[in-house]
Amino acid sequence: MTLPADPTGVVARDRAHVWHPYASVVEPFPLYEVTEANGTRLTLADGRELVDGMSSWWAAVHGYRHPVLDRAVHDQVDRFAHVMFGGLTHEPAVALAELLVDITPAALRRVFFADSGSVAVEVAVKMALQYWHGRGRPERRLLLTVRGGYHGDTAGAMSVCDPVSGMHGLFNDYVAQQLFVARPRPAYDEPLAPTDLDEVRDVLGQRSGEIAALVVEPIVQGAGGMRFYSPEYLRSLVELCREHGVLVLFDEIATGFGRTGTLFAMEHADVVPDILCVGKALTGGYLTLGATLCTDEVAAGICAAPGGALMHGPTFMANPLACAVGRASVQLLLDSPWQATVTHIETVLREQLAPCRDLPGVADVRVLGAIGVVETTEPVDMAVLQPALVDRGAWIRPFGRLVYTMPPYVSTDSDLAVVTGAIHGALQDRAG
Ligand SMILES: *Cc1c(COP(=O)(O)O)cnc(C)c1O
Repeated sequence: MTLPADPTGVVARDRAHVWHPYASVVEPFPLYEVTEANGTRLTLADGRELVDGMSSWWAAVHGYRHPVLDRAVHDQVDRFAHVMFGGLTHEPAVALAELLVDITPAALRRVFFADSGSVAVEVAVKMALQYWHGRGRPERRLLLTVRGGYHGDTAGAMSVCDPVSGMHGLFNDYVAQQLFVARPRPAYDEPLAPTDLDEVRDVLGQRSGEIAALVVEPIVQGAGGMRFYSPEYLRSLVELCREHGVLVLFDEIATGFGRTGTLFAMEHADVVPDILCVGKALTGGYLTLGATLCTDEVAAGICAAPGGALMHGPTFMANPLACAVGRASVQLLLDSPWQATVTHIETVLREQLAPCRDLPGVADVRVLGAIGVVETTEPVDMAVLQPALVDRGAWIRPFGRLVYTMPPYVSTDSDLAVVTGAIHGALQDRAG
């Protein structure tokens, strides 16, 4: 095992002062300094080049330093980098909003720009609560969700994350108590059983008068477990909520922009929400930006209350650099054969990850769209597995019992072979 090299001393300086995501400063994970990123390659300070298998957490779908996206940022920074959005507007925000309205279901016509995915979820929750307030039903204030979800790290978003992996015990009363039902049982290609929605039916039957909205990630539960569930389940869940007048809020922050093989994951089930959150790949991984879309009905409800304004307004709302690169990234995606590309990546990942099934300590291998997951029986030892993956030339970031990849759409077959080879090889060594 090669310990991460630190030729510039940046890693040591980092260790002295900087937090990393979900990390301890006492027992830190291996850390690597990146000095360049281009296409599908990350260059480390020690000169090694890694093939990216993560798209920087679902975001960099076009790879790094894409000329079209670089240009969009340069052009906008030459005009202005930011202006406040209270009382002012600009073309990048309007153009991106139009594009989002265009590519999402027709009913979603209003766009709120948030600074990140988590903030987009906070805004979505506020929309749902303010909607019921405006409609004279303020007692509808609970959120209904399924276990195994992940919706972000801010307080409102955390309240609908899986209570165990989301560490609700740690935050006690800080996190609101919401209504949870079991995680969707049928996997993506499994049939729905008649009893699968009994619990949801019961909860809705008893408490729908207190429920503002259903909050779910359609089809793919991401950071809560990387599970792919049945479109039929989603369709039935949405139907039941509609029968009880509960708003439907979809979090497509991870799944949006083609990742699952359709432009949005909800298309697998042919269902439409009242409120939709997007983020991550929205700017092609260039700048932080989320967006929350809602229907005219939700917007009208919010504004029906006396003085009814949506109560959110971040300092960097609709940042022009982020909006400009977001527009360029979404347009670049639409102009590309993204669906064929994602289908091809899916085929390659299926073929090349299948042999992981035969490794000891592997519980499951699953692929949907450009997402490949190897689930182990025990949590992986990051101190061993991370360097083992890097030594095989790939950037893969496992967590818990999940070693997974969602490569950039621009990955070549040889890129994908490096990524899947690293996963198989590192897991094989771990077993041996
Ligand atoms: C990443 C993610 C979020 C949070 O987005 P951030 O930009 O990290 O705040 C919310 N929901 C889902 C489904 C995500 O994958």
